[in-house]
Amino acid sequence: MVDTRNWFSEIPSSRLRQLRASCRYGCEIEIENRRYVNFSSNDYLGLANDASVMRAAKDAIDHYGFGSGGSRLISGDHPLLHQLEGAIAAWKGYEAALVVGSGMLMNIGLLPALVSRHETIFSDKLNHASLVDGVRLSGAKSVRYGHGDMQSLARALARSLDKADGDRRIIVSDGVFSMDGDIAELQSLAALAQQYDALLLVDDAHGVGVCGTKGLGAVNLAGLQGGERLIEVGTFGKAFGSYGAYVLGTTAMIEGLRQRMRTLIYSTALPPAITAATLAALPLIQQGDLIARLHANIDYFRQQMAAGSLMLMPSTTAIQPIVFGSDEAALAAAERLKEAGFFVPAIRPPTVPEGSARLRVTLSAAHERGQIEGLIQALNGLA
Ligand SMILES: *Cc1c(COP(=O)(O)O)cnc(C)c1O
Repeated sequence: MVDTRNWFSEIPSSRLRQLRASCRYGCEIEIENRRYVNFSSNDYLGLANDASVMRAAKDAIDHYGFGSGGSRLISGDHPLLHQLEGAIAAWKGYEAALVVGSGMLMNIGLLPALVSRHETIFSDKLNHASLVDGVRLSGAKSVRYGHGDMQSLARALARSLDKADGDRRIIVSDGVFSMDGDIAELQSLAALAQQYDALLLVDDAHGVGVCGTKGLGAVNLAGLQGGERLIEVGTFGKAFGSYGAYVLGTTAMIEGLRQRMRTLIYSTALPPAITAATLAALPLIQQGDLIARLHANIDYFRQQMAAGSLMLMPSTTAIQPIVFGSDEAALAAAERLKEAGFFVPAIRPPTVPEGSARLRVTLSAAHERGQIEGLIQALNGLA
């Protein structure tokens, strides 16, 4: 008999995820009346608590009220959204940009808008869930290649060419992988896209504001921005300290997406205050000091950790995972760190592959050297 009380009874209690209400104050986080140094945030530059970003949001509320009141195609469009699209396209070196509500909304709207069942999508196995769901929703033929395995991707592309019936191909990859922190081999991906006449879609949510000395992200670091067979996605919820997402491409591509993307057409536009905050964050990223500070923190953390015995994954980004293997070991480590005053989440399967449960440390420009030293001491105490 149908009963809402046991509908989800198959979820094992050891795998239950918990929502934990918390308040963030700079790089501290308060949970159940206790404060911890936060090493779990995607606010890589500390912009979520930046005074000028907060001021821009408040001023926009005073001018425009809070909610946008509708979808962008009805009455929710706002000059600030167009200003943001122009600014982000110019900064990143593309003809045009389109902004929607979030990265999840972007990817579950973008892929179905781009393709139909006549196309084949080739995706890295560790791509973000939003890309996985976007592929499913698109109804396209789907091929997943092993993480970073360019040879297996090349073979799959060659096979699809053998069956050539005029179908189009799209390669889809994260720029920076969210659970490992490694950067995709974008030059190889672009070369394969060229060789097999495929479109390349890169989601650089964790790369923008982090990679490269100017924070332009992994695609720019690889020198590929603005290419005619390239589409780039990024989000404002991470290094920008705000909320929302953008897609970049040629003018014709962006115009087509405006016509087709259901998550643009059938979803309420971002509130003007959020767009204003994002616009205020951009010059602070461009200015460069915050990125230099973030990279100094990353370098320091890696240098100090190299001396210890814990298994740090090879990452040059703000995401610095430490693999423990079993769920229990990762959870116990997270608990010990919490007792020492540091909040670092344990990430378990199915978010990461079985047997690779880990602590996912994320660093920020806002961390003080002493806070990182404290974390390293606590981590060394675990070994
Ligand atoms: C975080 C993330 C998203 C989702 O973005 P939101 O704005 O949080 O919905 C999409 N893609 C990648 C690669 C991400 O890391």
